[in-house]
Amino acid sequence: MFDRISIRYKLIVLLGLSAALALLISSVITIYSTYLSESRSSLRVLHQLTDVISENMRAALAFHDGESARTLLAALRADPHIQFAVVHDEAGQPLAEYRAAGGRADVTARLEGVRARIRENADLLRREDGFVEHIEEGSMIVLRPVFFEGKPIGLLAVVSDTRLLWAKIRELVLLQAVTSVVTLVLLLFLSVKLQSMFTRPIMSLIRAMREVARTKNYRVVLESDRRDEFRDLHEGFNAMLADIRERDDRLSRLATTDALTGLANRRHAMEVLQTMVVRARRKAEPVGVIMLDIDAFKKVNDLYGHPAGDLVLQEVAQVLLASAREYDLVARLGGEEFLVVCDGGTSEVTIAVAERIRAGVEARHIEYEPGALLHVTVSLGVHAAVPQSAAGDIEKMIRAADKALYRAKAAGRNRCVVAQEEVG
Ligand code: GH3
Ligand code: MG
Ligand code: MG
Repeated sequence: MFDRISIRYKLIVLLGLSAALALLISSVITIYSTYLSESRSSLRVLHQLTDVISENMRAALAFHDGESARTLLAALRADPHIQFAVVHDEAGQPLAEYRAAGGRADVTARLEGVRARIRENADLLRREDGFVEHIEEGSMIVLRPVFFEGKPIGLLAVVSDTRLLWAKIRELVLLQAVTSVVTLVLLLFLSVKLQSMFTRPIMSLIRAMREVARTKNYRVVLESDRRDEFRDLHEGFNAMLADIRERDDRLSRLATTDALTGLANRRHAMEVLQTMVVRARRKAEPVGVIMLDIDAFKKVNDLYGHPAGDLVLQEVAQVLLASAREYDLVARLGGEEFLVVCDGGTSEVTIAVAERIRAGVEARHIEYEPGALLHVTVSLGVHAAVPQSAAGDIEKMIRAADKALYRAKAAGRNRCVVAQEEVG
């Protein structure tokens, strides 16, 4: 179930839970240690009190003087914690008793508690240094024997009320609870603010990934000014995109170019020509088409070998690229046939380009082996017109240029011939 909750809420819950746990543990420790120290100090005070009273009680017990014993016990009034006190003579008979005014109604039960302690610890209470201390629900009892000249002459029991102690603990619990709730609320508020530190970079990465998946635009580069693990995540994502981009570029290069010359291949040339024709038609501008074929190429292969033929194809491609303008299309249609399309090319411009190509190829010295040169010529068919209708035009233009090329061959090769018929 936890994996369905977003990271943002997971962080808030996690921070809230750990804070609550820390507060709970620290509260329990504080309350328990306060209880321990308070009850210890109460017990210490009770012991000091019984020490003093038993010291003073000696004479009263020795003379069995109930009046002065009562007077001594009455001094306990000064301590609001003392509930009850009793002094027994050596026979175990009560000599004097003190009950706090407005004290608790269950004094008889406390008295029974005192008797039970005396019975249980009879031996201990016959020793001069013996005493009994006992904490039970609501009260604390200290019993101490009174000695005179080494002989036990009585027993003093003082019972103190622990309700004040518990009231103090209850106050502390309440204070801890209020502090914890306030701290938790503050922490939750802070964690809501702080969680964005973690979730923002993740969210931006998710958004970028969705955007890339939707648009297929792998050119995106994610910027990150962070120095933590999120930077690695961003860099990993960018590296992955770069890999995809490189593979895309390689694949599209393979699909659109001719491996030997690096020129556009036939399929790609037809696509580019299509868009050129559509644009030219919209702008009512002409498109110039040059079809080119190497003369007697079969002979080059036969005389100098296939690798020399390949070199000729590459050299001719170089001349074409050098002669055409930057925005013209230069393609190898197959074998030793090439196509040049002059964007916005009027007849004059296209003929000029074709003538530049022809002269360039003718003048080119091709070193097919170290120190061995060969020369080739090309025949070109030129056609230039403003396209009238999109679909049929490309074929008609190429066919017209092809026919002109055929006539150039027929007329003796190494020449440019302009198509006669108009396209439209
Ligand atoms: P023409 O002047 O009439 O054009 O004569 P040609 O010899 O050039 O004409 P043909 O079409 O008969 O010859 C084309 C030759 O081109 C045949 C083929 O072996 C060669 N060829 C086609 N593609 C390649 C290639 O990629 N490399 C090499 N070396 N030769 C190729
Ligand atoms: Mg040829
Ligand atoms: Mg040919």
